[in-house]
Amino acid sequence: MMVKDAIRKRLTEYTAGKVNKLMETGTLYIVATPIGNLEDITLRAIKTLKSVDIIAAEDTRQSIKLLNHFGIENKLTSYHEHNKYKKGEHIIEELMKGKDVAIVSDAGTPGISDPGEEIIKMAIANGIKVCSIPGPSAAISGLILSGLPTARFVFEGFLPADKKRRKRLEELKHETRTIILYEAPHKLARTLGELLDYLGNRNIAIVREMTKIFEEVLRIPLSEALEIYKNKVPKGEFVLVIEGAKEEAELNERRQEWSKVPVKEHVEFYIKSGMDRMEAIKQAAKDRGMSKRDVYRDIISQTDTREPDRD
Ligand code: SAM
Repeated sequence: MMVKDAIRKRLTEYTAGKVNKLMETGTLYIVATPIGNLEDITLRAIKTLKSVDIIAAEDTRQSIKLLNHFGIENKLTSYHEHNKYKKGEHIIEELMKGKDVAIVSDAGTPGISDPGEEIIKMAIANGIKVCSIPGPSAAISGLILSGLPTARFVFEGFLPADKKRRKRLEELKHETRTIILYEAPHKLARTLGELLDYLGNRNIAIVREMTKIFEEVLRIPLSEALEIYKNKVPKGEFVLVIEGAKEEAELNERRQEWSKVPVKEHVEFYIKSGMDRMEAIKQAAKDRGMSKRDVYRDIISQTDTREPDRD
């Protein structure tokens, strides 16, 4: 049954007097679970998992261990990358009928680099209440263990595998915030090599197996990390936290790039992208490290090709 059919059915039931309220939908609970150590579950997560009508899990075999450990007897169903649309529709129908559903991922917070994101969007689009039961997330734990600046950071999840990968790495070259990545062990050495090629020899924290027996954090330059993992088979789960580009170095590199473009073209570029003339001059001046007056003079000298007055 499609979501629209569920709504129609509900309307029919209401008009036939079978239900009192037209749209008392259930709540979708986004329940964070431990990323290793089971003691990291929250009291509220246990309470929620016990009380909902359905638990939709990314990996039911994994989640059953968690449920058994905490004595949670509940209806478990699978919701993963390969059934997220079809199963998502079904979950929305159940919510429409008034059932409460909890989403749990393999580990950590659903919705962060896993199919949880999709069901959250579907629920919101259907006017269903979404409630977050916060808890561990590998990205945040990795960031704080890295020792790198935490005030400004960017989460990139897994780097794309396809053609977008190069483009993404190019973009990251200019990223001044601390960068957080997830990576699978069998791709680690390749990714470290690419990070070194694109970003240069920055500092990285390789955070492995957090909250588990073999938890380890290596805080080293990328070149050293590559050396280590060239000769070592990586085991376990990894978060990579990479130092952002230095503001000053980044600024100089951009200035150098812009200096290859004539000032007039530079300003026209911003005008074409929707800025008014003054704004475009201001932005171009900033990019080039010039004053607005100099940018303006430069444009005039390039534009004014008339013969000077002869009187
Ligand atoms: N939603 C999850 C979260 O919020 O943590 C992340 C899901 S993502 C599919 C799984 C990735 O998270 C792993 O491949 C690994 O990069 C990272 N990860 C999960 N648990 C970890 C742990 N205990 N130590 C290090 N990295 C971990």
